[in-house]
Amino acid sequence: MAIARDIADRPGAATVPVRQAGEMIDPFGRAITYLRISVTDRCDFRCVYCMAENMTFLPKRDLLTLEELDRLATTFVEKGVRKLRLTGGEPLVRRNIMHLIRSLSRHLGTGALDELTITTNGSQLERFAAELADCGVKRINVSLDTLNPDKFKEITRWGNFAKVMAGIDAAQAAGIRVKLNAVALKGFNDDEIPSMLEWAHGRGMDMTLIETMPLGEIDGDRTDQYLPLSAVRAGLSERFTLTDIPYKTGGPARYVEVEETGGRLGFITPLTHNFCESCNRVRLTCTGTLYMCLGQEDAADLRTPLRASEGNELLSNAIDEAIGRKPEGHDFIIDRETRKPAVSRHMSVTGG
Ligand code: SAM
Ligand code: SF4
Repeated sequence: MAIARDIADRPGAATVPVRQAGEMIDPFGRAITYLRISVTDRCDFRCVYCMAENMTFLPKRDLLTLEELDRLATTFVEKGVRKLRLTGGEPLVRRNIMHLIRSLSRHLGTGALDELTITTNGSQLERFAAELADCGVKRINVSLDTLNPDKFKEITRWGNFAKVMAGIDAAQAAGIRVKLNAVALKGFNDDEIPSMLEWAHGRGMDMTLIETMPLGEIDGDRTDQYLPLSAVRAGLSERFTLTDIPYKTGGPARYVEVEETGGRLGFITPLTHNFCESCNRVRLTCTGTLYMCLGQEDAADLRTPLRASEGNELLSNAIDEAIGRKPEGHDFIIDRETRKPAVSRHMSVTGG
């Protein structure tokens, strides 16, 4: 191993992934260092592109306990995961979620973990921001698709715009860096993207735009919503000077710097640009199912090995076996023929 490292460290040497003890490498040579956990499939919003208004959620008895989620996450950390993101559904509506976050923060303390973070709709942030900061959460993603309170109500169905604004204020006041995530939706927020960008950058927040992905049945039709980010970028370029930068946050976004605002704008383009080649992540659901790819149906059951014994050997083997079949990538298309989602489960199940 030491020899392999020496070779890899030589100038000009090919970048062959060097396997360290406890490191997870998939069949395509990608090191898996990022685990996203959907801690609940429930949510206090019903965003139109994400959920139907009448959703059937998982029975509570099927959920892993917070202790089980901790044990699973900890096993992944021991196996080389350096970044944990809690998501959902809405992670902050899971009961006692701060117990889990507080407990997981011990891995920041030992240096085993580089980052512990969440993706949230912001509805509960006012309540939890200070505690999140105290647990070592340094930056979070807040999803916000419009700055217009009426349109906010329209897109989230159940959301309260003022509460989300208060949540963002609280997070920033607690010293947490906020990145805004906005889904680009044709005819809904395309005309608002420049002003959102100026608003976010004016408050010291980066912003990332996301294309709608064909995940799960919703009430409407996704082909009506789909707005390729290549078109958004072309439009923004007429107004702003966008310069590609190599900035990376461990996620799939490609960033530009906006000269006029001095801020960063990310593009997550699963449909117009396949980002799979650098994928470093896997996703765990609140029932202990591991998805090796957001855009494929294949999954591994980790709940059975987790519950089969008190030791972690079975679990660790099951994780290795799952990583060993991580696919090369997804094949998302917004299918105009069948108008069916590419993947039947909702983003709120796998965790966006
Ligand atoms: N509830 C939290 C929130 O909204 O931030 C976390 C979970 S949510 C599923 C995570 C992200 O996925 C959000 O930014 C949301 O806008 C995005 N999302 C949901 N459904 C999507 C879809 N079909 N296509 C693209 N993005 C989606
Ligand atoms: Fe809830 Fe997030 Fe889905 Fe909106 S995008 S319904 S906030 S899980």
